[in-house]
Amino acid sequence: MKKHLLALVCLIFALTAFGQHPHSHPPQRKIEFPDVPGYLTLKCDFHQHTVFSDGVVWPTVRVEEALRDSLDAISLTEHIEYQPHLDDIPHPDRNRAFILAKDFATAFDLLVVNGSEITRDMPPGHCNAIFLEDANRLLFRDSIEVFREAKRQGAFVFWNHPNWTAQAPDGIARLTDMHRQLLEEELIQGIEVVNDLTYSDEALQIALDHDLTIMGTSDIHGLVDWQYEVPQGGHRPITLVFAEERSEEGIKEALLAGRTVAWFNNTLIGREEHLVPLLESSMQVIEAAYQEDSQVLDVQVENRSDADFHLQNLSDYTLHANTDFLTVPANGVTTLQIKTLERKDNIELSFSVLNAVTAPKEHPLVELEVEVVP
Ligand code: ZN
Repeated sequence: MKKHLLALVCLIFALTAFGQHPHSHPPQRKIEFPDVPGYLTLKCDFHQHTVFSDGVVWPTVRVEEALRDSLDAISLTEHIEYQPHLDDIPHPDRNRAFILAKDFATAFDLLVVNGSEITRDMPPGHCNAIFLEDANRLLFRDSIEVFREAKRQGAFVFWNHPNWTAQAPDGIARLTDMHRQLLEEELIQGIEVVNDLTYSDEALQIALDHDLTIMGTSDIHGLVDWQYEVPQGGHRPITLVFAEERSEEGIKEALLAGRTVAWFNNTLIGREEHLVPLLESSMQVIEAAYQEDSQVLDVQVENRSDADFHLQNLSDYTLHANTDFLTVPANGVTTLQIKTLERKDNIELSFSVLNAVTAPKEHPLVELEVEVVP
């Protein structure tokens, strides 16, 4: 009887919950951004943990999460020096998480690159080395020597969470003399501007000042769905990599060339030269026509990306249905109503994209060329 009562309660709940929104469905979780001129836009998360260091899932779960998010490449970056599960999961091989994930991923369309987290007190803090040949060979006591070995293996190395309050209590990313030495020897090539739930303006400035690749990663230890509330429409932070080809070599070349944008919490962070082409590929005018006999121009803008773009109108035209602030929702078509005063054959619109960042407190501009249908 209790069972029947429970079933009835569930049924009533289901009817009331879904009855009001007959067309509602769970948000699409695949992360989607268009390619840019000359490059593929690859979705990558190069900082993740499993039970082979201090994470709580088996490596194959990371592959399945990545497939659900439609990522192109991942790396499982176990702490080399910090192995809290070693008594329960004894393993002599620091490449083991990579091998298990890579073997499992061969059945799918996902690239898995070998990586490890070099885990030190500040300075230098934690750094990830990816595209490693053999993680076991990184077991060095000397904090500089381990980076030299990573370089010998041809790894791409980035500084993790330089804003982490456990190592930088004020949350400010700062270079130390040791970091300067690592930079001088070209032992670090990138920096996390986004890690997990945090963003760092100071890390972005360090990236710009020292020509480091801008990285965004999840640093996931638990489950992606729980940490980023994916069922509620959230997403993990990732690095968008603009690569000539979808391969390990293609990604490594792009990372070394600094062609990235971080995607974090509905915000895109990157150098202007990489961010603007992504914005222009994401937002495209599909049609423009005047409303009947008026001088109000309907401009249909398609947003082919996962970002809701928050725009500030910088052109001299005012809008008929918005203030100077408007949102172009992700994966849809929005109609902007532009008051052009006289009927024109073409116009140019200019917006500041407020949820995109090219430097601390700086937002990129996008220009939309609008051809009017006669
Ligand atoms: Zn980590």
